[in-house]
Amino acid sequence: MAKATDWNIFVSIYYKYGQYLNQSDDGKFDKVHEPGVATPHSGVYRCTNCGKECTSVVSHPLPPQNHHQHPNRTPIRWQLVVWG
Ligand SMILES: [Zn+2]
Repeated sequence: MAKATDWNIFVSIYYKYGQYLNQSDDGKFDKVHEPGVATPHSGVYRCTNCGKECTSVVSHPLPPQNHHQHPNRTPIRWQLVVWG
């Protein structure tokens, strides 16, 4: 059973050289995922409720509901923001 400490948390994502990143309007960036489900694409995910971010690897579970707490107890929802 994975623990919350198995996932990192970022509050912001940075890059220096934009030429190494590719802009995409792929539909995979529009889907919102439940906590704990299998990661559909490796990359950086952002919680749509609070903005916290994490990295996750394809087929590994996305961070579970106890990854971080929201003051109003709303659920975690993960959305892909960087795919690689
Ligand atoms: Zn959150």
